[in-house]
Amino acid sequence: MTSIEHNLQQVRERIAAAAARCGRAPEEITLLAVSKTKPASAVAEAIAAGQQAFGENYVQEGVEKVAELAAHPELQWHFIGPLQSNKSRLVAENFAWCHTVDRERIAQRLNDQRPDVLPPLNVLIQVNISDENSKSGIMLEAIPALAAQIAALPRLRLRGLMAIPAPEAEYERQLAVCKQMANAFNALKQDYPDVDTLSLGMSDDIDAAIAAGSTMVRIGTAVFGARDYARPSQQ
Ligand SMILES: *Cc1c(COP(=O)(O)O)cnc(C)c1O
Repeated sequence: MTSIEHNLQQVRERIAAAAARCGRAPEEITLLAVSKTKPASAVAEAIAAGQQAFGENYVQEGVEKVAELAAHPELQWHFIGPLQSNKSRLVAENFAWCHTVDRERIAQRLNDQRPDVLPPLNVLIQVNISDENSKSGIMLEAIPALAAQIAALPRLRLRGLMAIPAPEAEYERQLAVCKQMANAFNALKQDYPDVDTLSLGMSDDIDAAIAAGSTMVRIGTAVFGARDYARPSQQ
């Protein structure tokens, strides 16, 4: 067994154990394997181990990997990094999901640039739930207005919310933040029947995120190993 295969198995077991502890079915939680900075060969190993959903943070790097792995139409590529307007076309043309929509202008551009031959782009609204230093994401109070704007765009499909909570060592405090996200997610679901995805939980808060109701956890290092930030393809 390759180490990526082994790692994937361990992460899946961790998800299943966290789900079992709070009485949820493990199938309710999708593992998004975050492959940023990792070569297509590493993604190919994960594919061989049954993984289909991959997350990328850097537009150019992600687009290159999507092209290198074009022989795998079953893959689901998720863009999870900060998105600048001048890169929106590449996301609209190459990804199935964008987790980081946080303003109307970017939503409008993604809508206008989504090719007609592709299904609507699945989008999540990024919420700034606890990290005062982060410039990404909107406040909880701003969700309804942005959701209404996205829902009016025919080439986008609003699927839910995403957050990157500030690092927090204590489980109870992680859980409190994750529950705020879950409440906002449940409220959004009432208004938009397509909403089914709460992208929440990374290596250090995966248990709290799943206990609160996350439906998608984003895991990189535990699947692919430590990242080497010296790789030049990043931007
Ligand atoms: C890098 C990244 C992850 C994965 O982080 P790891 O610590 O490698 O598991 C998850 N979500 C986002 C938005 C990221 O940028």
